[in-house]
Amino acid sequence: MTKRMFDISVPISTDLPVWPGDPPIEIDQDARMIDGASANVSRINMSVHTGTHIDAPLHFFENGFSTDKIAIEKMVGDVEIIQINENISIITESILKGLKQNLWPKRVIFKTSSSLISDWSQKPFRKDFCALSTGAAEYLVQQGVKLVGIDYLSIAPYEEPDEVHRILLVAGVVVLEGLNLYGISIGNYKLICLPLNITGVEGAPARVILLEQ
Ligand SMILES: [Zn+2]
Repeated sequence: MTKRMFDISVPISTDLPVWPGDPPIEIDQDARMIDGASANVSRINMSVHTGTHIDAPLHFFENGFSTDKIAIEKMVGDVEIIQINENISIITESILKGLKQNLWPKRVIFKTSSSLISDWSQKPFRKDFCALSTGAAEYLVQQGVKLVGIDYLSIAPYEEPDEVHRILLVAGVVVLEGLNLYGISIGNYKLICLPLNITGVEGAPARVILLEQ
């Protein structure tokens, strides 16, 4: 039986909401066949934290390493998609302890209220997305988690973005943000997360696929 494949990355378009203060996404054509050029050539202008993307320690640490230094093995392999109750807006340590008494997997992705919307990528930016508390971030690090994913543009609450990122990034955890989990069942999958191989930057857009187990 062929295993099904799910693309959980959001489409990049000029409609995609961006983090407040980031530049708007621009997609332009530098050469157009309709204007007589021999080929169509497009250009994009956007933050590296656009849509589905990963963060590296350089995002919050001046001497931290960049996304191109993250071993691809960290982003490819077994992953568990875990449901967070849809009325929860902040994932705390006690919520995590209630979810799992046994071993935590190396890679986890949280499916939250953000995934109730069929396509958040076509809606305006929302500040009330579900994210991790600092206690939850510390707990995941203690549990040996090496990749944490979430279904909106930040792993940290809108009002307090710094500390949660710092806790995860200093521990070498890959932060995977902006996933689209609408219609995705919770459970175990094979994750294939392939960020663009851009040198020396703190974030990188990624195509992210789940393979059914
Ligand atoms: Zn980011």
